[in-house]
Amino acid sequence: MKLLIHTDVLVDLAIHPNDELLEQLSSDRVQAWVLSASVPDAHRQIRNSLDDKLARERLGQIVSRFPTTPQAGPEVTDTLPDTRAGFCETLSAQAVQILGLDAVLTLNTESFSALEVSTLTPAQFITRLDQSTAPLTGVPLLDIPGSYHEWLNSAEREMYEVVRSGKFILGPQVTDLEDKVAQYCQSRFAVGVSSGTDALVIALMAGDIGPGDEVITTPFTFFATVGSIVRVGAKPVFVDIDPVTFNIDADLVAKAVTKKTKAIMPVHLYGQCADMEPIHTIAKEHNLVVIEDAAQAIGSEYKDQRAGSLGDMGCFSFFPTKNLGGIGDGGLVTTDSESLYERLRILRVHGSHPKYYHKWVGGNFRLDTLQAAVVAAKLPYLDGWTQKRQANADRYRGLIAEAGLENHVQTPADVTSRHIYNQFVIRVANGKRDALREHFQKRSIGCEVYYPLCLHQQECFKDLGYKTGDFKVSETAADETLALPNSFEVVPEQQEFVVSAIQDFFS
Ligand SMILES: *Cc1c(COP(=O)(O)O)cnc(C)c1O
Repeated sequence: MKLLIHTDVLVDLAIHPNDELLEQLSSDRVQAWVLSASVPDAHRQIRNSLDDKLARERLGQIVSRFPTTPQAGPEVTDTLPDTRAGFCETLSAQAVQILGLDAVLTLNTESFSALEVSTLTPAQFITRLDQSTAPLTGVPLLDIPGSYHEWLNSAEREMYEVVRSGKFILGPQVTDLEDKVAQYCQSRFAVGVSSGTDALVIALMAGDIGPGDEVITTPFTFFATVGSIVRVGAKPVFVDIDPVTFNIDADLVAKAVTKKTKAIMPVHLYGQCADMEPIHTIAKEHNLVVIEDAAQAIGSEYKDQRAGSLGDMGCFSFFPTKNLGGIGDGGLVTTDSESLYERLRILRVHGSHPKYYHKWVGGNFRLDTLQAAVVAAKLPYLDGWTQKRQANADRYRGLIAEAGLENHVQTPADVTSRHIYNQFVIRVANGKRDALREHFQKRSIGCEVYYPLCLHQQECFKDLGYKTGDFKVSETAADETLALPNSFEVVPEQQEFVVSAIQDFFS
């Protein structure tokens, strides 16, 4: 249930503290918001009953528990002419509509009667919360706006600061994020860039990889991995994947090395690291650059070492659906090498160093200050979210086993020291994946196939000369895999709903 706490409830809670109501408003099943305009208004009213110090203290205790959401200036002034109800009530009703909330929590529902908004009194709210919750009607794959409640207040302060400072390009927040993410990824350096895709491109450029060079990678990945290799003029050389982890099969890498091989680009797919030790051995032997595509794997570990510190460079994405997403595009490259770090920083600004003198041809690969500020504000939440994803993964495994579905669907193997579950991907054998997918769609359960067509089979890469049948393990994975909803907002009853849909499908 998503609620806006109206001014009158704030006033009442301050004067007559009610821990039970506060607890219930803070429960997992509720998202309660406070309109920032309500705070001074409530303070004025509370001062009629309490002295100023106590009024501020009590109000502070209440509002610190909930995100306070501001309204944009024009939203406030647009509300002025609407006189169907009090100004304060109209503002609350408008906020409910803008934020997509369920109701206003108010003592005086009458004062909202002229407005098209649902209202609940605290008593009605508690009754509704106590009633067995309405049956679910579906589960979204992701609920990005649903997660704002938790982090928006941390991010908003930073966002305003960036907008007001005018330092939109490579402002101090970019360096701050680079320091924090480098540390988080156990790397010495980090360079913020414009996207995960550009992280891959700039890493290849920094590794001096281009025409005539071969890069060994996996055909079972997001397009950008291979697209970036082709964009720098190099040739992707595919080797098949391990059927258990869906990651590049390290044993096959050695056989693919030729005189032209310059780099290996393993992908830590779905949030689990590739088998890096044998890859390193091969790289050392042939003097190859290792570039990790860690776009799905921030915080993931291999033998207790973090993704991004497992190769010469690690490439990350802040695309909103990744575990650490911005409010738009963004990415980052990590490295332990001071010379690569310097090169990456220069390539990020068209290869310009000093300014307007170009040693290399780089690009505009800059991370926006605004994105850096938001990502840095979200970083402290990341480990908590990862734990929720891991707990969800364990719960799915338990529910699927309990339902006796293990013969029909295979749950993902957790073989490295820290899988961060960017995706929870099951395997559905016997050609039933697409039918299960349709069954999910009928029940409004979000799911997705990552990825339905391998890269060696893509039309744009037909000149590489591969054909269907070349990488059987990857092709089978493309036919059998299905990602279930498992972002950190997913709750146990939603998982039960998903698993019971699988059970119905197979019964
Ligand atoms: C998301 C992703 C990318 C690209 O990141 P963007 O920020 O969307 O450009 C690259 N590789 C993999 C494996 C990804 O999942």
